[in-house]
Amino acid sequence: MIRRDRLTDAVLDLVRLDSHSKQERPVAEYLVRALSDLGAQVRVDDAGVAVQGDTGNVVARLEGTAPGAPPLLLSAHMDTVAPGQSVKPVREPDRIRSDGTTILGGDDKSGIAIILEVLRALKEREVPHGAIEIAFTICEEIGLLGAKHLDYAALRSKDAIVLDSSNSAQLVTAAPSSDHFTFTVHGLEAHAGMCPENGISATRVAAEAIAAMPLGRVDAQTTTNVVIVDGPKATNVVPNFCVVRGEARSLDDARLDEIMRTIRAAFTDAAAGAKITLGGEVRRAWIEEQCEREYHSLRVPSDAPIVQLVKRAGQALGTTIQTITIGGGSDANVHNRQGITSVNLGTGMRDIHTVNEWIDLDDFYRSAEIVLECVKERAAV
Ligand SMILES: [Zn+2]
Repeated sequence: MIRRDRLTDAVLDLVRLDSHSKQERPVAEYLVRALSDLGAQVRVDDAGVAVQGDTGNVVARLEGTAPGAPPLLLSAHMDTVAPGQSVKPVREPDRIRSDGTTILGGDDKSGIAIILEVLRALKEREVPHGAIEIAFTICEEIGLLGAKHLDYAALRSKDAIVLDSSNSAQLVTAAPSSDHFTFTVHGLEAHAGMCPENGISATRVAAEAIAAMPLGRVDAQTTTNVVIVDGPKATNVVPNFCVVRGEARSLDDARLDEIMRTIRAAFTDAAAGAKITLGGEVRRAWIEEQCEREYHSLRVPSDAPIVQLVKRAGQALGTTIQTITIGGGSDANVHNRQGITSVNLGTGMRDIHTVNEWIDLDDFYRSAEIVLECVKERAAV
């Protein structure tokens, strides 16, 4: 029932449209047309205003034709990472790849194309289905911003399939919470050659803190990373500030809180050790901190109806689908937090966020068949 030629054409169309984060409008316009042609109610929400982008999320609803079948949310994101402009996809017999100068944008246009093809197949074959709600989000790649501004009160679905991971035989049911942090160490400036003893090096305090904090893979569920260290550029002045940015992730929220306390302590301890007495007055380094939870963990139990539905659909098509945990967030984290039980099914995308990105066509087609089967099964229950 999935028309492979049409599905392939759709993804080729989509990857040719530029859509860096906050600049998704060409894709949004394409999707508004495509969804309207399918008879769905379509709107573009206000998320674009909130994030200062050129479009909001595209949100649509296709009314159900099977009485009593529960609604289902299908979701994928419109934005792509850089370099993602003027993508020239190369079609090979078993794959679509980029020409090597840009990403391909199969992340996540493969997911969008699958959703469109499922809707087209349903309509063409007059397959009975429950209501289908669709959220094509903006700015997923820069902090799940579109999903964070989605109007969940307008959605009726209690379950969602997000199409935004790699392998169609794998279903993401667990992903971490993530904290972003910035610690600014304040020291004391002094001439580095004449009187360094009158200064407190913020760089040194930061270095001690970084050396003391847990970094990399902390345990099976937890990772941390420090990405930017910034401060004054002059080498002849003892630096009076140093900015350290980083992130911590864990599948376990309590563990993440604990790791953040450890990181914070590394800074405060290092600062406490950096003090001097100047003119009878004690001077100390001090720390300024900003920390926010970028997103909350995803944890869907294996007996959840949506997990069982996807597994049954795979089985019906001869594919054993495994549930997996991944180390990164997706819109599924946000949907789930808002009370819609969400899983993330692979679409065939490969080597994402690199100029070697490609789509495995067999896997891509299989993913579309699985989603269609899920919709059919749900109407049959
Ligand atoms: Zn993605």
